Amino acid sequence: MPLLLSCHSELSEESMSMDERLLLKEAIAEAKLGLSEGGIPIGSVLADLSGKIISRGHNLRIQTGDPTAHAEVVCIRNAGRRTDWHRLVLVSTLSPCIMCTGTSLLYKIPRVIIGENRTFKGAEDLFAANGVQCSVLQEPECIEIMREFIQAHPDVWNEDIGVPGA
Ligand SMILES: [Zn+2]
Repeated sequence: MPLLLSCHSELSEESMSMDERLLLKEAIAEAKLGLSEGGIPIGSVLADLSGKIISRGHNLRIQTGDPTAHAEVVCIRNAGRRTDWHRLVLVSTLSPCIMCTGTSLLYKIPRVIIGENRTFKGAEDLFAANGVQCSVLQEPECIEIMREFIQAHPDVWNEDIGVPGA
């Protein structure tokens, strides 16, 4: 599979120069923007392999009433029509759920940077099974913003991850 091999070599060369924490900072800024709108503080950015940001998004489920408006899906939606997904990096403040993981896998995004997975661990095993390079940074700011939010709005959080209501 020469295509896959070329993707991987491209990835390893360019990903060396990428600052994961810098990209995560941009995703955190999106999470804070969401919080300021009364939404769930989860943010995401898509960048190319040199670290240039292609699109941004934050969870809009509360703001729009759209149950699928998770940060990563919104960010991917904001990137519009493209054919270079296999050269992009998805960054999220929180471990992506199975829906967001599925969307990312569909478009063959080869690398994912995750702010933290202590609050919630999504489908990281699926990323691994599909050869996606996954970094989990366990950034204290990401953990803290979710801890505060869940403490204040446990019901809204349970709704976000599909916990059945009473
Ligand atoms: Zn999701």
